[in-house]
Amino acid sequence: MPCVKFLRWFLPLSLLVLACLQCRPLGPPPVASRERQLTSISSSGGSGKVPMSQIYRQVNLKNDMVPRGRHGRKVIRPMRPQYITIHSTQNYTADAWKHSKALKNGALRSPKTRYGNRIGYMIWHFTVDDKVAIQHMPTTEQGEHADFHGPGNRLSIGIEMCEHRGSDRRATIERTAKLTAILMKKNGIPLRNVVPHYHWPRRGKNPPNKNCPHFLLDNGRPGAKWRWFLSRVNDHYQHIE
Ligand SMILES: [Zn+2]
Repeated sequence: MPCVKFLRWFLPLSLLVLACLQCRPLGPPPVASRERQLTSISSSGGSGKVPMSQIYRQVNLKNDMVPRGRHGRKVIRPMRPQYITIHSTQNYTADAWKHSKALKNGALRSPKTRYGNRIGYMIWHFTVDDKVAIQHMPTTEQGEHADFHGPGNRLSIGIEMCEHRGSDRRATIERTAKLTAILMKKNGIPLRNVVPHYHWPRRGKNPPNKNCPHFLLDNGRPGAKWRWFLSRVNDHYQHIE
């Protein structure tokens, strides 16, 4: 009888353990799920507020400014930011540090034409990848990333998301959403003024509205994916203390 009792309990239990082992990966969770764990602190929908300093730490913001008076900052145009413009690099080989180096070396030239780039160099405020966010210029200066002489450059903070091969896109998007929430808070920018590059028509270009950031647009236009991104931004924004 003890033997039957043992089997009655041992067999189902051992089967359960086996089933669990099969469906649960061993070792640490992949980066994406670790990122989700981090974000769950501030995105659980609960009433818990998160101090700004904690979100800053999660964003892992580094300062690597293009020197004032050089390349993309050779002309200083003051700005009071009213919008945040989200881009993706469409560069499949460079992470955030590589982009920062290129900006500092003056490697990102852009033809200076009548309607085109105002200074002959591209520049934006932040580059984000799956590990870090890097600032290239103060948010009180205009960049050259959106629409040449238009309001996108004159009034918006530009954020580029990296998409190099092997990077964790979900982690890049989450870091970008957190950085955007911080910038909204610091500059009094409402969610409706967080826009994709697509939002700003470029004079003299065909099509005028760029498919950027392409992986957050649907058929080249803001749709469900963009609304999802805004909901991530808003989630972080609502939880900042
Ligand atoms: Zn863009």
